[in-house]
Amino acid sequence: MKDLPRIGLGVDLHRLEPGRPCVLGGVEIPCDVGPAGHSDGDAILHAVCDAVLGAAGLDDLGTLFSDRDPANKDRDSASFCHEALRLCRAEGLRVLSLDVVAECEKPKLIPHRAAIRARIGALFDVDPTRVNVKGKTGEKLGPIGRGEAIRTTAVALLGPVD
Ligand code: MG
Repeated sequence: MKDLPRIGLGVDLHRLEPGRPCVLGGVEIPCDVGPAGHSDGDAILHAVCDAVLGAAGLDDLGTLFSDRDPANKDRDSASFCHEALRLCRAEGLRVLSLDVVAECEKPKLIPHRAAIRARIGALFDVDPTRVNVKGKTGEKLGPIGRGEAIRTTAVALLGPVD
């Protein structure tokens, strides 16, 4: 039943390492640490992709883009988004809204929120007012609170293409 809205959930976790470029939500953020990963490590875009793919009932990001494939080494995660949107459209679906929570001690996301919403909106062909991004700290607890990792959670609502 493609005429009913469909919801999807995506989560991701990446280590934060000194000297790595810090690209989150498709936006380069000045920071002394960045997410480690086989690709560019963009934990926000990875969670959003998995939420979109999940809502469409499709394979997840790790299945579509293996971290053992050299072609995905240091890959710009925007290309994962392009593929997720293409697959979603092939199912007759479009993104209606997205909501993201990113948990990390740094970088501080608030100054970059508008840019991240605009970038995610452009990548998934949805108005930025229908994309929300929230930042939380780890309250000094566990690997998030010690600044060793970033954890992201995203939900996506999909509906039929008009
Ligand atoms: Mg990831």
